[in-house]
Amino acid sequence: MSTVFVVNAGSSSLKYQLVELASGASLASGLIERIGQVRSSAKHKNAAGGEAQEELHIQDHAQAFGWVLRQFDAVGPSLDDADMIGVGHRVVQGGSRFDRATIIDGRVQDQIEALSPLAPLHNPANVVGIRAARAAFANLPHVAVFDTAFHLTLPPAAYTYALDRSVAEEHRVRKYGFHGTSHQFVSRRLAELVGKPLGETNSIVLHLGNGSSACAVRGGESVETSMGMTPLAGLVMGTRTGDIDASVLLHLARNGGYSIDDLDTLLNKRSGLLGMAGSNDMRDVRASAGAGVEAARVALETYTYRIRGVVGQYMAQLGRTDALAFTAGVGENSAETRAESLAGLESFGIVIDADRNAGTGPDGDAKERRISADESAIAVWVVPTNEELEIAQQVAAVVA
Ligand code: AMP
Repeated sequence: MSTVFVVNAGSSSLKYQLVELASGASLASGLIERIGQVRSSAKHKNAAGGEAQEELHIQDHAQAFGWVLRQFDAVGPSLDDADMIGVGHRVVQGGSRFDRATIIDGRVQDQIEALSPLAPLHNPANVVGIRAARAAFANLPHVAVFDTAFHLTLPPAAYTYALDRSVAEEHRVRKYGFHGTSHQFVSRRLAELVGKPLGETNSIVLHLGNGSSACAVRGGESVETSMGMTPLAGLVMGTRTGDIDASVLLHLARNGGYSIDDLDTLLNKRSGLLGMAGSNDMRDVRASAGAGVEAARVALETYTYRIRGVVGQYMAQLGRTDALAFTAGVGENSAETRAESLAGLESFGIVIDADRNAGTGPDGDAKERRISADESAIAVWVVPTNEELEIAQQVAAVVA
């Protein structure tokens, strides 16, 4: 029973999962937060119900791995018996170089670090995680799985910004797209579900979580996606604006006294649902709208309006669309958001069945289910994403 250890390192956090390849099951997972602060919090749990939770000072990611290894000893499962074949690292930005999962050696690690200017919030943290993990699991191959890699099949027309070409080239400014492991996993599963070969399936994946992105997939390849050079672009998100006229930044800098850091925080952390309606959680915003708060109602309309626009755009780019999937926290759980996002698209061949969508149809509220009506030309599904499993499988493929 081979396993892969999957690592997702943030600047002050470490998320991990031990994935069994044959079953796809998570054998153990955990999260350490506030690394470097006086009181860090650390949680570990295994599939048998064993758990450990502690508040303690964890100075850095190396210490965090020390804590994790102790939990595998104390709570289990034993890593000695886990037949780990490798460690998979979620890396946000792979630039235009990394078009697939790649074994990490010193040179690859340096290249990931060198991409930091393009992903200053993410790549430096990913490298810190890689260093600590390579020390903790010194005898295993480590593999970087990039959020951007799946989108390197975008045609130039989709990834090019209409910017002075020499500036764009010098600063590597182009659309990269993100959430690639999720879009790849869900689009592949969606083709299975609609019973068509992947190579002949055109689909649209709506990954709606705290971060949100859409992807148009033609024959298994990403051909358009809504995030851009960074994960800021596209749909309305929990705390990010999504698309916004770039001149708004100039206006705020010139007339509002905003510094570059202020703008970064405003666009990435204080906007989206949070900025418009006071919470980045869809459940809260829906509750507020239900209680009559006008700002929440407008936020929801803005959120779903933009999804509908992207669906229409991608249908035009794809020419023929076979299937559409909703995934991630909002996409998997919010029937209202799904219904509102696709409302009025019947003449486009998208007909949602209200009972199936609400979880009261023949498949009940099965996590994975078709929500379109039988007569809908485009099959619409809820497909739970599993980025850890996708990473584990890509690690297995590379290591083999
Ligand atoms: P993710 O980034 O995929 O983990 O998604 C997290 C987001 O999903 C949360 O911030 C919520 O907005 C949303 N979410 C989670 N559960 C629900 C639910 N039951 N109904 C509506 N939204 C949900």
